Parts: sequence; C-alpha cells; structure tokens
Amino acid sequence: MKLYSTANHNLSVDFKTAVFNSLPADKGLYMPTILPQLDAAMMQSWDKKTLPQIAFDVAYTLLNEVISAHDLKAIIDDAINFEAPLHTLSGDTFVLELFHGPSLAFKDFGGRFMSRIMAHFLKNEHKEIKILVATSGDTGGAVALGFLNVPGISVSILYPKGKVSAIQELQLTTNGNNIEAIEIDGTFDDCQRLVKQAFLDDELNAHINLTSANSINISRLIPQMFYYAYTWARLKADFEELVFITPSGNFGNIAAGIIAHKMGLPVKQFIAATNSNDIVPQYFKTGIYTARPSVATLANAMDVGAPSNFIRILDMYNNDIEALRTKLISLSYTDAQIKNAIATVYKNNNYILCPHTATGYLAVEEVQKSNTKNTAYIILATAHPCKFPDVFEELHIKIEEPTQVETMKQKQQHKVLMRNSFDDFKAHLLVKNKY
Ligand SMILES: *Cc1c(COP(=O)(O)O)cnc(C)c1O
Repeated sequence: MKLYSTANHNLSVDFKTAVFNSLPADKGLYMPTILPQLDAAMMQSWDKKTLPQIAFDVAYTLLNEVISAHDLKAIIDDAINFEAPLHTLSGDTFVLELFHGPSLAFKDFGGRFMSRIMAHFLKNEHKEIKILVATSGDTGGAVALGFLNVPGISVSILYPKGKVSAIQELQLTTNGNNIEAIEIDGTFDDCQRLVKQAFLDDELNAHINLTSANSINISRLIPQMFYYAYTWARLKADFEELVFITPSGNFGNIAAGIIAHKMGLPVKQFIAATNSNDIVPQYFKTGIYTARPSVATLANAMDVGAPSNFIRILDMYNNDIEALRTKLISLSYTDAQIKNAIATVYKNNNYILCPHTATGYLAVEEVQKSNTKNTAYIILATAHPCKFPDVFEELHIKIEEPTQVETMKQKQQHKVLMRNSFDDFKAHLLVKNKY
C-alpha cells in the first residue's frame, strides 16, 4: 500500500512513513493511493465471524503488502480485545456501543491499534521514540492506555488543568511506567501549542525521536472501519439498507466508515451529527466551508472548530459537494436538545446516552420520519456516560461505573504540574531524557 497527500496526489510514501510522520510536510492528509475492494465471498462469511476476525479481513485487504498475515493477526487480537455490543433501542434503531475498551471511548480502537503497529515497526530498530499528545480528555486516555507498557515507546500527555473530568484524569495519571501525565496551567489550545512547538524545535529533535499520535494518523483511522463492517455483518440478514449515524468532531470516525464504504461495504447513508460546532452542517447548507473557533458544549469531545479529517472525506468525493451530498448529511444540535434527548431516552427506553451519542439519537429522530424501506439506523455510541458526569447529576440520572473505573480508583496518581511555558516543557523533556 502506498499513500498520497490530499494536498498532492503525486506524493507517494509507504505505510510506515505515513504512520511515523502522521502528517505530510505539505499539511495535507495521507490517503491510500488505491482503496482495494473487500472480497465478496469473504464478506459473505462474516456472519459467522467475530469482531477480531472481521477486523483482520478488513485490515489485511489494505495492508497485505506491508504486514504478514501472522503479524497482523497478532496485532489485531491484542488490540481489539473488547466487545462492541449492538444494543436494540427500538425495532430498527440500534446503538453500537464502542465504549467497552480500557478508556471507555471509541478512541481505544485507534489508540490500541496504532500503538501496536508502531511497536511492530520499531521491533528490529532498537530505537526509542517519544509520543507527545495534547488532549482535551478522550484522546489522552485512549493513547495512554493504548501505549501502556508498549516496548520502545514512551508517552507524554499534556492536559489542561481543571478541564478534564475526574475519570478522564484518572485515565491519564494512574498508569506510570512509560506514560507521563503533564497538567498544564492553561487551556487545551495552550497544550496543543506546546506540543506543536516541540515538534519544530531543533534541539529537542536532535536528542529525542518525537512522534505525534493525533487523530489524523492513518493507523488510527484503519481500526475505526472494523466496527462498521462488523455491524453490517450482524444486520445484513434482517435489513435491506443500513444508515450509520456518527457523532462527529474531527470527522475521523465517520471518515473511516466512508473509507469502508468506498472499499465495498454496503451503506445507504452516513449521517454526521455535531453539537453547536456546526462547521460541516453549515458547509452542506451554504456550500462554503468556514472554520471557526470552537465553542464549549456538553459534548465536549466534539468541540472542534476546524474538523481535521473532513478533507479526507472531500478527497474521496473529488471535492464535489453534490456527489458527497448523495452519501453524507450532517446535522447539528444544541446543548438544550442534547439534555432533552438524554432525558427522553432514559425515560422511554431506560437507556443512558452520553452527550455525544445523544446528538446521534437526535439525528435519527430527524431523518427516520421519512423512512419507507426496511432500513436499520445504527447510532455509534462513542463514550460511556460516566466520563461526562456533570449533565447526569443535573438530570438526576445515576450512572453505574464500569469495573475499569473501580480498578483505577485504587491506583496511585502521578502527574507533573507545569506552567504554560515552552521553556519549562522543553527543559523537562531534555532532563527526563537525560540530556
Ligand atoms: C473523539 C470523540 C468524538 C469525535 O470523533 P471524531 O472522530 O473526532 O469525529 C465523539 N465522541 C467522543 C466521546 C469522542 O471522544
């Protein structure tokens, strides 16, 4: 498999380069030059296969020239070691629970797969790399737990003081070993600026092999295709058509679904649900794409004002908005609507949606009214509600914490407190690495 840049289709790099660079120098995003088609007979066999088996079929279709079947199978069996249950909300409406991994959010698929892919490539190099990530909450947890004890790799995670939930902070600070949590006295944007500056600093790069792990990395996208395929395999006998509804911020999760579709997965329509950060819904309305500073909402993992993966989606449709409109729609919802949806589903279905997943439910309500065919609506549940407790206290909904949380609460917390200063951050990295 070779990859090009969305900003330069003549570029051609191998998979390993794309994984360790994350971004091409031209600031486009890497995309596979060819999206190979999923084999029809293979897909027919999926109704008898498990999630890791289907994951292997999808990944091997893309990566067969890059990683041996034996190694890829081992990577997937180790990375995808949790379930993705399909909960029936009503006859034709399903919630795909993607929050049963260690960090209780769908980002575990990406974090766990990426870490093992990197370790695979580093195995014979005797090289140490350092991952730097800035997080507003969910990415950090998935990366921390995904890379925990992965050989050859250490991770420093920067998060804004007082701005992540209690459970998110535990996920960052209770790991130890090769994972370091740095609490910055500043905002998420400050954290991101410090990380970006580190990647540009010659002295740091001379001493440390710095790598990023952000959501635009191609190795985080690939494992997000697995559960779209798995869901199709489970519903194809009972429904003529599938509609996937993906709560979206940077649009990586939905981009992965669309890549799977381009590889031959039958999907009638994709719906990207957003919170009040409605850059893409506005683009579909007006035809003009305008990034804006993000606004804070209850679904804060989707508070994104410049959705970084959206150019991948446009690229797959040759930047033709009319062509894209036939497959993707995007709808936005306010905090008041999100709260209302959580309360309604709790009352009517005795089921608790996280604020992100609630935007997906609202989108289903809006589009399902025009349903005539035998169509299944699958809402991707992106996080466990316990990660976002504030809204539930207000709604008087009690959330049972999963066992992962109990285990973390028993552990010692370690964090480094730091001013919002690049000099401090740089000195810390150099000392830590003994230069
Ligand atoms: C990251 C995240 C999203 C948004 O996913 P994108 O791939 O950035 O669109 C939605 N919900 C939760 C809970 C998340 O952590």
